[in-house]
Order: sequence, then C-alpha cells, then structure tokens
Amino acid sequence: IDESFKRIQEVDDQVKAFLTLNEEAAREAAKAIDEAVEGDSSLLLGMPIGIKDNIVTKGLRTTCSSQFLDNFIPLHNATALEKIYTAKGIMIGKLNMDEFAMGSSTENSSYQKTRNPWDLDRVPGGSSGGSAASVAAGEVLFSLGSDTGGSIRQPASFCGVVGMKPTYGRVSRFGLVAFASSLDQIGPLTRTVEDNAYLLEAISGHDGYDSTSADVDVPNYASHLTGDIKGLKVAVPKEYFAEGVNADVKAKIQDAIKQLESLGAVCEEVSLPHTKYAVPAYYIIASSEASANLARFDGVRYGVRAESNDLIEMYKKSRNEGFGDEVKRRIMLGTFALSSGYYDAYYKKAQQVRTLIKQDFEKVFEEYDVIVGPTTPTTAFKIGEKVDDPLTMYANDILTIPVNLAGVPAISLPCGLSDGLPVGLQIIGKPFDEGTIYRTAHAYE
Ligand code: GLN
Repeated sequence: IDESFKRIQEVDDQVKAFLTLNEEAAREAAKAIDEAVEGDSSLLLGMPIGIKDNIVTKGLRTTCSSQFLDNFIPLHNATALEKIYTAKGIMIGKLNMDEFAMGSSTENSSYQKTRNPWDLDRVPGGSSGGSAASVAAGEVLFSLGSDTGGSIRQPASFCGVVGMKPTYGRVSRFGLVAFASSLDQIGPLTRTVEDNAYLLEAISGHDGYDSTSADVDVPNYASHLTGDIKGLKVAVPKEYFAEGVNADVKAKIQDAIKQLESLGAVCEEVSLPHTKYAVPAYYIIASSEASANLARFDGVRYGVRAESNDLIEMYKKSRNEGFGDEVKRRIMLGTFALSSGYYDAYYKKAQQVRTLIKQDFEKVFEEYDVIVGPTTPTTAFKIGEKVDDPLTMYANDILTIPVNLAGVPAISLPCGLSDGLPVGLQIIGKPFDEGTIYRTAHAYE
C-alpha cells in the first residue's frame, strides 16, 4: 500500500489516472491486515485496487467524471466493492473515465485527460482509461473497470494490460452507475492473467440487489490455469481481419495464433457475418438505454442543482450545465430513436440485429471453444486526434461491441508491440465459460 501511494506521488502528475484518493482509509485497512495476517488466506489479502469512478463508494466522492456529480458522496458501496472488501483487498482511490462511460479515449472526462503510460502524447483508451493506465503505470496492481461496448478491453489493449469483460450477469451491477443496463458489466484489469482470475473470482456471483445477476456457481478460475490447450478448438473470424484493421496489428495477431497452434490448439477460419452491423445497432441500443437511465439526473435527486425559481427551468438548466457534449449527444440520439414513429424503424430494428449477432456467436460456439482476434483495429491514437469526429471514434469499437450485444465474455491481453505501442489479443468465450478464456490466455501469456 505504501508502494502504491509512493508510485502515485511519483507519476500521477503526468499519467493523471486518479480523480480521488482513499489514502487514510487504505492505510488504516493495511494496518489492520498487518496486525492479523497470520494464517489468513483471503483471495486479495492486502492488495491495492483502484476503482473506476462510476462504481459507487460509501463516503467517497463518485463523479462518473461528470460535473453533474461533482459533489456526489454515495451512501453505500457497490456489491463488487463489498466483495473486494470481503476478500480483504484495499481500495486505493477512484479512477478517471469518459463522462458516464461514454467514449473510447477518456478525453470526455470533465476533469482531466489521462495519458497512456507508454507514450504520454497518446490516449489510454476508454472509457476505463484511468483503470488501464493506473495498472500499466504500476500505481496499483488491480483495478475495476466497466465495459458496455469495449471500455475494459480497448483501454487494456492500448495500455498493454489484461482486461476481462465477464459474461453479462456474472458480476453484480448493483452500485455501477447505469449507462446501458442490458450491456454494462464490471470487470478486472491487471498485469497478469493469473491476477485477473483471482480478482474476477472475488467479485463474481449472484446478488439479490441486481435482478440481472445470474445464479450460476463461481468457479475457482485459477484452477483453470493449467497451461494445457492441446486440442482446443479456436475460431478465427475473417471479419476481424477486414479492411480498416492495421496491417501490423493483424500480423501480431497472426503470430499469436501460430503460437496457440504450436501449443496444440486447432485454429480455423470462421465467419461472424453480421459484425458490420454491430456499431450502428449498438449506438441505437446503448443511447436509447442511456437516455432513459440518465433521466434520473434532474438536479433534485443527485448531484449539482442549478439556480432557478421555476421547476422545469431548474431541470433544464441543471442538465444543460451538468452534462458534457458527448452525453447530450447520446441522450438526444436515444430520445429520438425511442420516440413514437421512429421506434420501429430504429430501436426495434437494432434489437433484431442484436439477435442476429448473438446467433452468429452461438453458431460458432457449437463447434469451437473460443474465438480469437484483435481487440482494436489500431494501437493507441494521439490525444486530440479523434475527439472532434465522433463517428471515427465510434468505429474504433467495431471489434469489441459485438461481444456486449451477445452478452458473452471476452478478455484482452498483450501480444507484442507495434511501433513501440502495445497490441491486444482478444479471446472470446461461451457464456459463463471465463475459465476456458483464462486457460487459453494463460497458456499463451
Ligand atoms: N466506446 C463505447 C462508447 O462510447 C463503449 C463505452 C463503454 O464500453 N462504456 O459507448
């Protein structure tokens, strides 16, 4: 814990991963553990963990990187954090993100721009940019992020760390500020696959406070790290190597596939034919759900209230001042897609496309154990490069979004460098089969 705060002191001025530190409480927790460490085999005993700032922390400011929640101090902990405490992990502080998790570069934070520790002129990815950068910079060993369309895997890929988006329902969403409820999942970011397996085991499981959390046993994920993938059937979707995916990224992924083959895996090309419709379908569904979820920010119940004597004016002013541009863009898009007259043409159509994408995966998983490809079409881009061009920014998520629409689990882990920047290998698994993903990733690592 001392090392963690020391490192934050040394580098966070430049990396800017943390929004709020939990120093006093963390040091106290560490002291309590020091005094009673004998014979304690708790899964995360004394481990320093950073938390994305859309996961609520009792008594500690939780902003979602939004001015709207500038003064918001939650009254309870998210279930994932309670579970970390049960496993005796120590929460170090709250990590920067794109406002309400909308973005792919952490540039949409209303507080600060987090930088990629590999090259400070580049973005760390997003929206869990702080979560990935803090682990890559050695400030914490573990962090939690959230992934609605790629927000754990894409920053993990850009920062050269391991990031897992679990199966929808694997981890309780209670206390995760909702962006798109049918897609959101909390997941772990770490330096190694083994650490990742421990943290996921600690935070998983059914929760009475989240009706979408699944009542499925939590395996001992570490027991899957056998190193043995002989005979594993690996599908390689041709759509994940299409135009637009950088040639050197493709080459690094091909090398990784060769390595899996040399370990005894059987790799074959397959097709996920509806991949190209994933981005438009996602932006309709995610924005529609966001427009409903963010209706709760009215200046009354949470956060900052604008001055006005008129109730409706107060709502409007609070929302106008509290939300940033990207959040407003999503609310308007979602409200439009859900409005009568357009609902069938956009929202319903997007849901139908979602079913087709889910069926693409189901079909491949009838024959294969995992699907492998790149996490992102490119390595980390420059700060400012895409910020004024939302469509190019959205297109960056083409390879991560289908996984959320299908609800399946996927990991990103480092697989070499391209021009000195990390490339991420994505391994996608069957629902609730994170164990096989970890086995594959660990054998490769
Ligand atoms: N970049 C995507 C978006 O902006 C995904 C974000 C996320 O997964 N939270 O919506």
